Amino acid sequence: MAKENILVVEDEEAIQELVRYNLSREGFSVQEAASGEEALERVHKQAPALILLDLMLPELDGLEVCKRLKSDERTQHIPIIMLTAKSEDADVVTGLELGADDYITKPFSPRVLVARVRALLRRNKREESDKEETIQIQNLLIHPGRHEVLVDGEVIPLTHTEFQVLHLLARRPGWVFTRYQIVDAVHGDDYAVTERSVDVQIVSLRKKLGDAGKKIATVRGVGYKLEE
Ligand code: CA
Repeated sequence: MAKENILVVEDEEAIQELVRYNLSREGFSVQEAASGEEALERVHKQAPALILLDLMLPELDGLEVCKRLKSDERTQHIPIIMLTAKSEDADVVTGLELGADDYITKPFSPRVLVARVRALLRRNKREESDKEETIQIQNLLIHPGRHEVLVDGEVIPLTHTEFQVLHLLARRPGWVFTRYQIVDAVHGDDYAVTERSVDVQIVSLRKKLGDAGKKIATVRGVGYKLEE
């Protein structure tokens, strides 16, 4: 299983190092950002499983980063734990209201930090799967509840029908679907889907998904499948 990736946003090197050391030791992969701007860039490049966010950051502060991430459809599902100083109680309240999921006050024990990270990841997973199972196939992520497809953390705009075709294939990777089965599963939507137009949907999907589109394989004389 791939390591869960944690983004640590902290401008104080000593704390950054302490957190990185402890998370790595516990089997997480860690990426780091030393400013708010850098944090946003990293999230959009590779969406982490969770963000540890210091509130006192140069330029763009932690609350602003939290606000932007939680008001953006593409990133609002990523859990955030704020790292705060004792004097920042008011900011903690603001942060929680902006959608941050938890907070830890400095100085903190690394063991408590790791435990909080694990607890929040567990909770988040449970919530996600409650909504409707999220499907991840390598760099391809499908959120049925949000009708959203991400490749490498980037949202791919799909039509409703394209989404349904992809979701159908992705629910059973490696399984071959005939054109008729695909039509049957997605029909009755925005327009009449015919067996012929399934091919058109697939061409368009492959194009939009880029490299990840290569996972959609044509099974000659039968139909399509999504490679595992
Ligand atoms: Ca700081």
